[in-house]
Amino acid sequence: MGCGTSKVLPEPPKDVQLDLVKKVEPYTGHSDIYKHFIRDDCGAVIKAGSPSPPHHANPYPGNALPAHQPEPRKNKVAKYRAKFDPRVTAKYDIKALIGRGSFSRVVRVEHKATKQPYAIKMIETKYREGREVCESELSVLRRVRHTNIIQLIEVFETQDRVYMVMELATGGELFDRIIAKGSFTERDATRVLQMVLDGVRYLHTLGITHRDLKPENLLYYHPGTDSKIMITDFGLASARKKGDDCLMKTTCGTPEYIAPEILVRKPYTNSVDMWALGVISYILLSGTMPFEDDNRTRLYRQILKGKYSYSGEEKKSCVYKRPGEPRNVLLRFLRL
Ligand code: ADP
Ligand code: MG
Repeated sequence: MGCGTSKVLPEPPKDVQLDLVKKVEPYTGHSDIYKHFIRDDCGAVIKAGSPSPPHHANPYPGNALPAHQPEPRKNKVAKYRAKFDPRVTAKYDIKALIGRGSFSRVVRVEHKATKQPYAIKMIETKYREGREVCESELSVLRRVRHTNIIQLIEVFETQDRVYMVMELATGGELFDRIIAKGSFTERDATRVLQMVLDGVRYLHTLGITHRDLKPENLLYYHPGTDSKIMITDFGLASARKKGDDCLMKTTCGTPEYIAPEILVRKPYTNSVDMWALGVISYILLSGTMPFEDDNRTRLYRQILKGKYSYSGEEKKSCVYKRPGEPRNVLLRFLRL
């Protein structure tokens, strides 16, 4: 879940079932959501439950870099600064690396003239996968304007890289807050989900399916408890034009959040986002994953069976198992 590398990138549909995952990192580790904290920036394993942020978390919310940065981080910033096109560095000061994915790096920058902080996502477009992710992301970000969706400010393109200047979210990922809190109260979880649903409703109205909703892609605008949430990372999104058949066929997503209809390679609709939101609801309420297994085939079997157990806050002792689907967790919850 946590690493960009754990995504299943778009693959053309095939007839074969369940031999899906080719571009994912195998994971062996703990049995809760901390498992996604596998390595920090320097490659050191972070202990389960460690309060340290994962490598992709926004480590320095706000504008200022900490006065004494550890050497490796300083070097990293210098390294990424060197990767920036002179047109970008003429306008923006590169401050810190705040996120990393398979094809992208996200840095916090400051506009030289206005001193306004922004985020720049740099995507390598040398290889086909990077190009496709970049095209998806740009085609969506150029169309959207919503309070719960990260806003694109401007784009710089070179032969091998694209730099997207975006609004900066300084409150970190929802993922980090789940880790910090363990789980959310129903009231807090409702607040989060309502904001995400507002954004998702807007996207669906425009014919856009996100296809990679998960707590790492939901960012808090500021560090306060009253911060709004913003949806980000449209690298796997599908944007339909008017009159297009609204069914999608590409197999993609993050394994723990993938809907069964994608796994069986049936044509699917934007309802796959609702499945992912059901999974997120479950995580928010329980602090654990509804479906998890280190073995991807077994994980997908669990998802296909729709079997999960949930121990609610009010019924800690009564764990019940029932076939169903995370979309029901979301629905039950929104009726509260
Ligand atoms: P990837 O496709 O590699 O997952 P993301 O767009 O999700 O790329 O960015 C990776 C991480 O970078 C995010 O999970 C988040 O922690 C951080 N990040 C991305 N965009 C922003 C932003 N606009 N403001 C602050 N942090 C961001
Ligand atoms: Mg992401």
